[in-house]
Amino acid sequence: MEGRFTDPGATVHEFADEVLVRCPVCGGCALVLAQVGERADDWADRRKHTRRLLRCGCGYAKDELRGCRVFGGPVDPYFRLPLWLVADCCGGRRLWAYNLAHLDLLEGYVGAGLRERTAIPRSMSLVERLPAWVKSAKHRAEILRTVRRLRASVPAGPLPRAAGR
Ligand SMILES: [Zn+2]
Repeated sequence: MEGRFTDPGATVHEFADEVLVRCPVCGGCALVLAQVGERADDWADRRKHTRRLLRCGCGYAKDELRGCRVFGGPVDPYFRLPLWLVADCCGGRRLWAYNLAHLDLLEGYVGAGLRERTAIPRSMSLVERLPAWVKSAKHRAEILRTVRRLRASVPAGPLPRAAGR
């Protein structure tokens, strides 16, 4: 029932090249992605301006040079739009993820009975930086329910990655 979770050592930055956001025009699920060849490897790279594409199924599209300024909250670090994957959870706290891979990592961690650390050089992994309330066993069931609800809120089918329809 309870599996083993081994921290892959990923940092939150590694999930920021594809961020699901709430479209400012239609309110639907939109995608902020790095232009091909513009993926940044580390924090210093990410603060430089790189081309970010905002795409929504309603046809809304934006391409801009953007530096990464806000990390670690329920806001897309580039266009500063509210994340799509965000929900109130466990008494007024906010559970959030940039994308489904990020959500999968949270689910794997929270759902596991045995958690193993992986030492990574320089920076702490996303898992190591999770707040105490996410790590607390008493919140496990509610967090897992919230994760499932968030996953179900993502529209089926591929999100648009090219401008226009
Ligand atoms: Zn839209």
